[in-house]
Amino acid sequence: MNLIMLGPPGAGKGTQADILSKHFSIPTISTGNILRAAAKAGSAVGLKAKEFMDQGQLVPDHIIIDVMDERLAQPDCAKGFILDGVPRTIVQAQAMEDQGIHIDAVVSMELDTEIIVARMDGRRVCLGCGTPFHVTSYPPKAEGICDNCGEDLIEREDDKPATVRARMTIYENTTAPLKSFYGARGKVRTVDTDGCTIQEITTKILHILEDLA
Ligand code: AMP
Repeated sequence: MNLIMLGPPGAGKGTQADILSKHFSIPTISTGNILRAAAKAGSAVGLKAKEFMDQGQLVPDHIIIDVMDERLAQPDCAKGFILDGVPRTIVQAQAMEDQGIHIDAVVSMELDTEIIVARMDGRRVCLGCGTPFHVTSYPPKAEGICDNCGEDLIEREDDKPATVRARMTIYENTTAPLKSFYGARGKVRTVDTDGCTIQEITTKILHILEDLA
């Protein structure tokens, strides 16, 4: 099964992608995680991407398209994949379509902007493996430490309030139009996440994907 998780930053795409990844035994592909790892490793692509990421700007399409080409060619993607945070522009979506990459469904996670801004403030991400946590709604077992790999959790530069607002504007202008792009192809399945727990959202998503499993 090939899925795209679509929604504004902070809507819970990463959390749900990780749960679905375990459920369906297929990898999550997060371009954000790939680029952060590349930046940490000090590669030329990573350092270039970091300049945009730290300001809450989108990384140029050609970089993302190259990163995706390389990642989707890995053998673990053969059974399917969950795309988290990609595509984020029509150009990226069109490039995937032109390459014949099949998409079964686009899970569109809807949530009010004010809830998102408040929520992003509590977000913490593992420095090692990128697993997302939240100080109140999804806390790690030990404060500041990743449940998965034991590395430190940090608040990302791009989760800080001013950057979040810039990211929301970019989402509305550049990424939200993907709903129409994939809607025209009959792929969009909308999940209203307002007031729902993580588990309730997972249940809703599994329900709307039932005919694909
Ligand atoms: P994320 O972890 O998905 O929230 O991504 C963090 C940052 O990485 C974004 O704010 C962008 O700067 C960059 N990024 C990740 N994925 C993409 C993408 N598909 N297109 C452009 N920029 C991206």
